[in-house]
Amino acid sequence: MAPLATDYSATNEELSVVSSNFESQSPEAVLRWALDEFDHDVAMATGFGAEGCVLIDMVSRITKTARIFYLDTDLLFPETYALRDQLEARYEIRFERRATRLSLSAQAEVFGERLWERDPDRCCYLRKVEPLKELLTGLLAWITGIRRDQTTARAQAGIVERDQRFELIKINPLARWSSRDVWEYIRKYEVPYNRRYDQGYGSIGCAPCTDLVQIGEDPRAGRWRGSAKTECGLHQQVSPKIN
Ligand code: SF4
Repeated sequence: MAPLATDYSATNEELSVVSSNFESQSPEAVLRWALDEFDHDVAMATGFGAEGCVLIDMVSRITKTARIFYLDTDLLFPETYALRDQLEARYEIRFERRATRLSLSAQAEVFGERLWERDPDRCCYLRKVEPLKELLTGLLAWITGIRRDQTTARAQAGIVERDQRFELIKINPLARWSSRDVWEYIRKYEVPYNRRYDQGYGSIGCAPCTDLVQIGEDPRAGRWRGSAKTECGLHQQVSPKIN
């Protein structure tokens, strides 16, 4: 039997078989396969959240040469930048910084001050989606830290799936994991994590759009609090309307 294709031209059935085979395997097995299958044509995204830190630890046990990148919006918490430096030192790796060429002052000049308060979709598009799109063009696959139980939009995420928005393969090694699994791994291997979690943050993004969560609230309830927005656009299959 011919090997199953895992590039963007693969049929839905082929991708579904590949993904299903990983449902009973560890995230490390998924990562090993992805790094072997796509080599330098795959890159891993991280926002230095708990899931990202787990994946960085796992990848660093496999290889020190994997491409790992983060989207620097220039609006991350100081603790996030400190964590980035701590992870680089601990794992002896270098993260690839991707960012818009639009400085915050240029953005304010063109779109007005504090765009994130008035039009967060546009702000995320400029500062996250466009730099991501630029990076993913030319890659065959990317690896993310999304989990199915994070949001309803992520509930159907495959371990290996077609990313229709960016037109490449998307690999989600932690799709099956719960938050508990993530934190157990962090404690077991003493993985560095963002100290904002200890202060009551459930999910950590840009400082202006991240709030504390109360007991009983969804961990992502502090993201874009007060607005209907739940995703920055990196994991949506359909583009938000940006004119
Ligand atoms: Fe802008 Fe907020 Fe999106 Fe960051 S999370 S890019 S500040 S809207």
